[in-house]
Amino acid sequence: MTTGDLNPASAGQGFKKVGAASVPARETTVAYFSMEIGLDAGMPTYSGGLGVLAGDTLRSAADLKLSLAAVTLLHRHGYFFQRLAPDGSQSEQPAEWAINDYLTRLPETVEITLAGRSVRIAVWVGWVEGVTGHCLPVYFLDTDVEGNGEWERTLTHTLYGGDGRYRLGQEAVLGIGGVRMLRALGYSGLSRFHMNEGHSALLTLELLDEERKRAGRMDIQPGDLDSVRRRCVFTTHTPVPAGHDQFSLDLVSELLGQAEPFRQTTLFCHDGLLNMTFLAMNASHYINGVAKRHGEVSRHMFAQHTIDSITNGVHAASWTSPAFAGLYDRHIPGWREDNFSLRYALGIPPEEIWWAHQTAKTALLQEVNHLTNAGMDNDVLTLGFARRATAYKRPSLLFHDLPTLRALAAKHGGLQVIFAGKAHPKDQDGKDIIRNLFRLKDELGPCIRMAYLENYDLELGRLLTSGSDVWLNTPEPPMEASGTSGMKAAMNGVPSLSIRDGWWLEGHIEGVTGWSIGPGMNGIGGPRNDAEDAATLYAKLDQAIYPLYNNNRRGFLEIMRHAIALNASFFNTQRMVLQYVTKAWFA
Ligand SMILES: *Cc1c(COP(=O)(O)O)cnc(C)c1O
Repeated sequence: MTTGDLNPASAGQGFKKVGAASVPARETTVAYFSMEIGLDAGMPTYSGGLGVLAGDTLRSAADLKLSLAAVTLLHRHGYFFQRLAPDGSQSEQPAEWAINDYLTRLPETVEITLAGRSVRIAVWVGWVEGVTGHCLPVYFLDTDVEGNGEWERTLTHTLYGGDGRYRLGQEAVLGIGGVRMLRALGYSGLSRFHMNEGHSALLTLELLDEERKRAGRMDIQPGDLDSVRRRCVFTTHTPVPAGHDQFSLDLVSELLGQAEPFRQTTLFCHDGLLNMTFLAMNASHYINGVAKRHGEVSRHMFAQHTIDSITNGVHAASWTSPAFAGLYDRHIPGWREDNFSLRYALGIPPEEIWWAHQTAKTALLQEVNHLTNAGMDNDVLTLGFARRATAYKRPSLLFHDLPTLRALAAKHGGLQVIFAGKAHPKDQDGKDIIRNLFRLKDELGPCIRMAYLENYDLELGRLLTSGSDVWLNTPEPPMEASGTSGMKAAMNGVPSLSIRDGWWLEGHIEGVTGWSIGPGMNGIGGPRNDAEDAATLYAKLDQAIYPLYNNNRRGFLEIMRHAIALNASFFNTQRMVLQYVTKAWFA
């Protein structure tokens, strides 16, 4: 299924193989670089939040008729297809996809040099179409072309695969190859280069080299850097160290050589390593984190830089279930073009919201029962939890004190929990978490039903965030830079029960838009306390959520309406892109 199938109300809008740029290449002003972009459930060209955000950003940029072009890698074998054995052991299969169904190969090619060998880069294009028909191109770089060496051909195969050498090779293709490809395609007037995370930061060195060549010089001078800075924008997405790529200088000189831009070590070298985050920050005039708290955390991490924040969002039309889209079409016409108007959800009759929610919940539970034989029931409170399986996200916090949870479920008429999420292939702790959740299934007792769905992707994400009654999020603060799945839930009136971290610090009003977990305000770097967090989670279920859900439906619906009116109206990529426009792209 594609976005169009799921959401007939927005048919004609989405990602298309055939299209035409609404703005000619030479007049396009913004180039958006991202190692991953989630555009369609049939294209495994993303791994998680970063790629989904990139896709939503492009959709809103198209809605807003911006002159923007995006660059990424083809990822011929995708991220990976997740299989879970009966004991919860994850195995990974290449995620093959029908490239020709989605993209068109263009005739242009460019070259870069890696380890002294020339690598030819080809390009494919696909089109993001906005709600008003405006189209913008996404370029997918491809090194699997005849004439390239065997290793070089694999560079655009696997997202986040391979070793450091492979990753640096990929990042050279994206950053350096990406700029050269844009030039070959006629993009001569670009005034902004947006680096969505540090993977594309080598583009700054290519821009420096362009300055040098334009001036006919052998060396790079300080004025060149000023010119590059004026054009570069960097968004950092995570406080987790593994999210900041670093490479040894030996590898850098082996792979990238000694040409002029790679001598600019003061620009990219930190602790004796090529640090992509430092390079991106040093070469950008505007840097931001992805939520207010994440901006603060980033300013602590990188004190010598000025770091702003623009809180993430999600693309409203793409993450709204068909039932809610129909409801908004009746009560808030024009909501796709003007997401701010979702604040008028306060005027939608509660019984219509309940009907739309039951429709979305039925779609989810039918799929869950079909896939897992979980026997889930529409009348039982259902929690959704879907995100990368990794230690700091604490997927098993809900089960921290099983006897207490069992008693709670028995007292209030049962509990259903639906999980999904992939562990990175090299994250053994993450894989253990999935196995442990599977093991727990047998200890839940008669009142708790649990399902873990395989292969979390855009499609499952839509079903889960729209069909759950309450969206659960339990990261260890301050590791969650923003989080976006709770925003998808809000698009469908689904309130969050979440740790106060990331976007929830901004979106949370207790008992109005949802509920918080944890004691008071968790300070930056405060010690993790699973027992305390679990205790408040149980208390919120027992004293706030169950009583509303079971005995005060009106009260529960008030919260659903406020999730839409206060949060869906703000935590969308339309508002976010407008902030990038005024603060970074056209400032
Ligand atoms: C939204 C989404 C994510 C990111 O969700 P978070 O809440 O930010 O973790 C990851 N994967 C998929 C498939 C998604 O749809």
